[in-house]
Amino acid sequence: MIARTITVLLLWMAAATVCSEAAAVIHHDLQVELYPQEHRFSAQDTLTLPPDRPDTVMFRLHEGLAPRLHAPGMKIARLAPEGPYGSYRVSLPPGQNRLVLSYGGRLHHPLDAPEKEYARGLRGSPGQISPQGVYLTGDSLWYPHIEDELLTFSLRIKMPPGWQAVSQGSRTRSKDGETTWAIASSQEQIFLIAGPFTEYLGPAGQVQAMVFLRRPEAQLAQTYLTATARYIEMYETLIGSYPYDKFALVENWWESGFGMPSFTLLGPRVIRFPFILHSSYPHEILHNWWGNSVYPRYAAGNWAEGLTAYLADHLLQEQRAEGAQYRQSVLQKYTDYVSSQKDFPLIEFTGRHSSASEAVGYGKTMMFFHMLRRQIGDRMFIEALQVFYRGYRFKTADFSDLQKTFEMVAGQPLETLFAQWVRRTGAPQLTIELARVRAEGEGYVIEAVLRQRQPGPPYALDVPLVLTLAGETAARSAVVPLRDRMHKVTLSSTLPPLRLDVDPHYHLFRKLDRAEIPPALSQVFGAEQITVVLPAAAAAEQMKAYQAFAQSLAHSGPERVTAVFDRELDRLPADGSVVLLGWENRFRETARTAAAGYGASISDGQAALDGKTFPRQAHSVVFTLRHPDNAGLVVAWIAADPPAALAGLARKLPHYHKYSYLAFEGREPQNLAKGRWPVLDSPMTLFFTEARPAMGSLPQEAPLATLPAASAAGN
Ligand SMILES: [Zn+2]
Repeated sequence: MIARTITVLLLWMAAATVCSEAAAVIHHDLQVELYPQEHRFSAQDTLTLPPDRPDTVMFRLHEGLAPRLHAPGMKIARLAPEGPYGSYRVSLPPGQNRLVLSYGGRLHHPLDAPEKEYARGLRGSPGQISPQGVYLTGDSLWYPHIEDELLTFSLRIKMPPGWQAVSQGSRTRSKDGETTWAIASSQEQIFLIAGPFTEYLGPAGQVQAMVFLRRPEAQLAQTYLTATARYIEMYETLIGSYPYDKFALVENWWESGFGMPSFTLLGPRVIRFPFILHSSYPHEILHNWWGNSVYPRYAAGNWAEGLTAYLADHLLQEQRAEGAQYRQSVLQKYTDYVSSQKDFPLIEFTGRHSSASEAVGYGKTMMFFHMLRRQIGDRMFIEALQVFYRGYRFKTADFSDLQKTFEMVAGQPLETLFAQWVRRTGAPQLTIELARVRAEGEGYVIEAVLRQRQPGPPYALDVPLVLTLAGETAARSAVVPLRDRMHKVTLSSTLPPLRLDVDPHYHLFRKLDRAEIPPALSQVFGAEQITVVLPAAAAAEQMKAYQAFAQSLAHSGPERVTAVFDRELDRLPADGSVVLLGWENRFRETARTAAAGYGASISDGQAALDGKTFPRQAHSVVFTLRHPDNAGLVVAWIAADPPAALAGLARKLPHYHKYSYLAFEGREPQNLAKGRWPVLDSPMTLFFTEARPAMGSLPQEAPLATLPAASAAGN
């Protein structure tokens, strides 16, 4: 009873103090006509400004749209051009807060080139009107932008017969060639997507689930309608009611992964990958809570991506009991891609544009929320998320608003946590050293020393320790507060200790030691420089394909790629990671020796790993191994048959960056095997016996939320 009273009181305080002030909102009443064949549109926008406006209004609009004002006594003046848009000034008579603008013209920009080195670099465009479809966002400046204020709108679109248009909010009218969308809650921008779509509808609780496909495919649509209902139900239970009337999956005409308020725009290949239903799709749905209704104040750091990654990507792995593995790959990505020059604090993250910015803005932020959850416990964490959502829905919020909310709900100061993870650059690096184990009385005392080795002041860390004892299958866990550079740990047990593991499930954000990381392709793509060693003995056609492959590596990550023939080298360079190409490579023996350490084999006619054999003919194999002369670097051996498979490998490998080994078949090539080598010599583990036994088991951690059964949702 007391606990209940306190909860109610806290919620009341939250409601009273968490809310930021309601922002002034501009309303657009837009009527648009699309002419896709001519790459142009025409529009009329009736703008209603907040009543306390100054008499002069400035707005920006895409070049060449010739805005005209419909009002006696008002003037429009064009200001000096400032880039790819026009700036205009309108003087309003006193008391007037409404203006009507007509404009129109061509708006068509080609797709951007994807960012170099960036495996996830999907393409975008500042705006397109074409026979394939229409893609207009705030960046397109297709409606008048007045400062950076939030807005509401209604949008009537006329378009060719057989076309459909999608925007935020609710569809209030729809007939062939004409649709109206409207939204009364504050938005950052107005999206207009249109094309020749087939539409599918389904229920998702109180929400309308919609699917817009570019060709009819009822079964695919049904899969998405069902998934939409399940995810919305899960997140409504976890966070609070879904903020819009509908959620739509919209098929784009190029490969993309965009999450807009109340819909997502995914590429044609993307939506047909089955794993998207458990990865990108819930991520984009969850963005309706974080990013598309609670808006990050970008200038103070974009927290929304990391929180979405944590409650979608991480949660789904957690539900499959693979949370620790997921966190390990997040830490590995940070360790591999983020050099000290590329690092920055979370308050400076706006959006990802490289693997390094993704590793910080998504990865470190995600780990920050994980540590916050562990500090205050699941119940408080969930309650704080709910209070934060209620308080900031359709408003902007930054890390300090998160801090205020979480402190209030948890009833404890969280300044240390926010200061060291959000405002400080970098990550702690831990080591453990054994002082001794001694028998004492009936049992044993273990003394070890934990240290922080990163430059700069120590972090305040709660370090998970896991002790495995002889004769017990379950390990024992403890959390040790590490506040200084060094901390002496004393543990006691009645049974003989076998091993002690430091943070084996990766609960802390930290820079991993090389030996904790199985060699993986991310160490090739994340390297500053690599040497590609070509097999001089290869046949001409094969050599041409290998040379083209070496060139493609220069576009997928490393800043400097040097290609040399194997016969020019006495030994492998140890100043950067190395890629060995071909069965014919003189240095194949180096790969064979290193692979043998993991139980994998390479012979003249085949490679074998994981109990499977891959003949040289018609197969491609990739082994990423530790460099024999420098444990911080890798040697990747890549051999392909037929040579034509190399073009496909160049395209596919960046997507397999977290794997140690891969095997493919044919010229496409099709993936047959993938995996990570086991960690054999982690410095985070102390063994007390020669035998190096496996770590004892730990209780399964309960996921933050569970996915409702398919049949229970959406009815
Ligand atoms: Zn996202």
